[in-house]
Amino acid sequence: MKNVLQLGTVKGIKVSIHWTFLILIGWIVFTNVREGRTVTDIFWSVGFILSIFVCVVLHELGHALTAQRFHIKTKDITLYPIGGVARLESIPKKPREELLVALAGPAVNLLIVILLYPFIDIALLEDPNNLMVIGSANFVLAFVAVNFWLAIFNLIPAFPMDGGRVFRALLSFKINRAKATRIAASLGQVVAIGFVLLGFYANPFLIFIGLFIFLGAQAESNFVQVEALMEGHTLKDITMHETPALSADASVADAVHEVLNGQNRNFLVVENGKAIGTLGQLELIKALREKDESEVHLRDVMDKTILQLQASLSVYDALVKMQREKKSVAIVKDGDAEVGMVDTDNLGEFILIQGARKQFAEVE
Ligand SMILES: [Zn+2]
Repeated sequence: MKNVLQLGTVKGIKVSIHWTFLILIGWIVFTNVREGRTVTDIFWSVGFILSIFVCVVLHELGHALTAQRFHIKTKDITLYPIGGVARLESIPKKPREELLVALAGPAVNLLIVILLYPFIDIALLEDPNNLMVIGSANFVLAFVAVNFWLAIFNLIPAFPMDGGRVFRALLSFKINRAKATRIAASLGQVVAIGFVLLGFYANPFLIFIGLFIFLGAQAESNFVQVEALMEGHTLKDITMHETPALSADASVADAVHEVLNGQNRNFLVVENGKAIGTLGQLELIKALREKDESEVHLRDVMDKTILQLQASLSVYDALVKMQREKKSVAIVKDGDAEVGMVDTDNLGEFILIQGARKQFAEVE
């Protein structure tokens, strides 16, 4: 990922910090200087922020390492000024696993609270002014307080925050996951609106967090609904047995004609009856921009690496694989035999059809 500084690797998980984090440090130094604080004060304030972000990393590692126990990898952990993000390769689908992964983050912060509790000076809490400036006397207290707050805040049931995931996992024990996600996402959006409104009165930071939750809930809910529509289906169900093909000797202009004249946007490029490449919208547009369309042959502009998928693969896994490898076409095989192809268009159509079937089933 760009714009990040890699800090290190923990159990194969890259931990990075986003450059905007520097703005946060700069802002802290700036406000301290503006209020005429000493260099020592600035040192403690910056040190405090850095120590909190160590806790955020530990929180994210709590999620990531628990996920690892369920054989789910984490691509990386990145720290932003508003918090950390652990990019898990997938979200655990079993309710028990999702519950444990979601709880692991806040559990890390609570553990820090418990471990440091004997070292804090509770008497400092009697005067709120004691917490206004961070120094050696109140550092541990403030640190424990922030960890406590991190645990509680993340457990608010605002999907896709940790508490929202806990809520969905609990619902998933009783009802199907797609429905559980819809309910959790709706509650998440209500809470998100609450955050935004509260943000206008209290802390503008909450407006950002509210928007982030609102959009996140929508996106993830949509994703799960689509995922549910594909459930139980394999590539066998959507394979195109009549595969649109173009000759490797055809020109780009021929391909354009074919696209405008018919329904297909993705083609196999064949030579002597054998597919040697694929041509999708991406390759076609690139060729049109860079080359003379009547002169250049498809063999020179096609994608030469053909993705091959087994007919027994689930539709969902096929979609993930095609997205990951940035392919709009794949050849479908049954064992060693080629049985047809799939492209992003018929995948999209399948999802639309499944959606309509589901609506009919709900009306009935
Ligand atoms: Zn978390």
